[in-house]
Order: sequence, then C-alpha cells, then structure tokens
Amino acid sequence: MALVPMRVLLDEAAKGKYAVGAYNVNNMEQIQAIMAAAHNTGSPVIIQASRGALKYTNFAYLRHLMMAAAEENPDIPIAMHLDHGNCLETCKIAIELGFTSVMIDGSLKEDSKTPTTFEENLEVTQSVIDYARPLGVTVEAELGTLGGIEDGVGSGQVNLTDPDQAVEFVDRPKVDALAVAIGTSHGAYKFKEEPRLALDLVREINSRIPNTALVMHGSSSVPKELVEQVNKYGGNMPNAMGVPMSAIQSVIPHGVRKVNIDTDGRMVVTAAIRKVFIESPEKFDPRDYLGPARSAHTERVIQKMRDLGTAGHAGEIEQKSLDDMIEFYKQKGMI
Ligand SMILES: [Zn+2]
Repeated sequence: MALVPMRVLLDEAAKGKYAVGAYNVNNMEQIQAIMAAAHNTGSPVIIQASRGALKYTNFAYLRHLMMAAAEENPDIPIAMHLDHGNCLETCKIAIELGFTSVMIDGSLKEDSKTPTTFEENLEVTQSVIDYARPLGVTVEAELGTLGGIEDGVGSGQVNLTDPDQAVEFVDRPKVDALAVAIGTSHGAYKFKEEPRLALDLVREINSRIPNTALVMHGSSSVPKELVEQVNKYGGNMPNAMGVPMSAIQSVIPHGVRKVNIDTDGRMVVTAAIRKVFIESPEKFDPRDYLGPARSAHTERVIQKMRDLGTAGHAGEIEQKSLDDMIEFYKQKGMI
C-alpha cells in the first residue's frame, strides 16, 4: 500500500476505539523492525521522524527508507509523520519529501524550548493548516507543554492542556489531531514515582471536542526489564521510569488515537547491542549486533501494537490518497 494520510488511520481508529502507535525512526533497522511488527500483527502504523532524524539521515535517505517500507509492505497502511515541526518551513520540507502528515508544535517557539502564548500558537498552527490542507496532508498541533526534553525539544515546564483553549483551537485552525498535555513527559526519566495521568482532564477534553483525535506524547513505558538490561551490560540509566501501559490503556476509550513511542525503541536497541558487546566481545560485524537489536525492537513493537489495540486492523483501512483527502476536506467545509 502506498503511504496514506495520517487522518485516515486516526478516523478508522476512532471507529474501532483503539490507538495507533507512532514510532520514531532514524535508521534502516528501526524502520525494518517496526514494519516487521506491523506485518506480523496486521497493524496500521505511523512512522515518525523528528527534525533531528531528518538531519541525521540527510533527508533523502529517510525518504527512500520510507518508500522502501511502503513497497515491501503492500498490505500495511503506513502514515509518514513529522514529529515536532518547529515552524512552517520545516513542515514544508517534510511535505516536499513525501510525508503524509506533519506536526506543528506551536506550544513552543521556533527554538523548540520557549513556551509561546496561546495566540502565537494559533497563528503558527493556522499558517501550517493553510499550507498543508489544500495538499491533503494531515496536521497535528499541540496545546499545553509536557515535562522532559528529548531530541532538543521541550521547555522542561509542565502546563496541562486547558479544555476551553482546546475547543477554541479546534474551532479556529480546525486541526486533525491535537497533542494534549495530560501528565506525560518526554525522555527516559519521566517520573520519580509511578505517574498518574490526568484522566478527568482527558475525559473533559474528549467530551468537548469528540471529533478530534487526541495524541499522547512522552508515552514510552521505559520497562523495568529494559532499564535493568541496559544497566546489567555496562549502561548507566539509574531511575529511568516511564508511563505504564495500563495508564495509556485507560485513556484510549476517551479519544486518544495516537500514542508516541520513541524512548522505548531507543532503549531496546541499546540494551540488545550492549548485550552482544559484553557477551561476545570478539564480534565486530555490525550485523552481529544490529541484527539482534532489530529483532528485539520488533518483539517490543509487536507487544505495543497488541496493547494499544492496533493489531488486526490493517485490512479495514481503505487506501486513500492525498487527492482523496482534498475532496474529504472540501466536503467537510475545511478548505
Ligand atoms: Zn513529543
């Protein structure tokens, strides 16, 4: 299947009341691992790349990797999404590369660090909608700020999403998906103790904007056994802690349709590579450690796809092009 606009996956997830994982990638093995998991479980999938990933892969490599993923997996609907676009220019670059979805994170200024005012956020989000929507590209926005910093993104301050502002945000720029701050945090050191998500807040936001897909960022679980494996094989990640899957599952019935997973993918790869280095120091072929890392990553994503309820839904999704989406937006009066 060719790449599909992310909105197609989110609307279908809303019908089936499940969430789709959005997995960050930076290289070939990560894309292959995630696609193998999607194939194995019959899941639709969102592959996402941050600005850091675009830079790391020198743009063209990432573009061709995602084309390869689509070519190799004709039965899997894949949305290619820009994570934390910082300005209109970055979103334009991603769209030109063939991304079917972009996030504009107007909760922070272009430096991806300083929080903006509500009006500033509205303005930059509107500029991206004005550019992307006539092209059929999905737009995710963010309201409120998360704790933690990852890939250079984050103010480190927590501001939970205000439901009144969420209503205004969805009325004015008419975003396809809204990332909300409900108590999660970016990175591997999210919390000091088991976190509690603001479940009532999710419920309220969902009841006020029931037709907008909600997005959870900073939602890796940072499983204890991965932290232990990293540390056992010479790593140093004391007290890393994430959001338990049970907490994520508790908000899926309340409109959460996209769940971002980055840290867990990084950790599983690191843990597997460390294990090979310590147990088999004589190995020096990158395939000997990147291969096991890829397999371990696949296993982890298979579990996520089952836990989020994504597994088994690939076949229900209709192939829609960006042109189909332009028609869809016209019919809804959104262009
Ligand atoms: Zn994020």
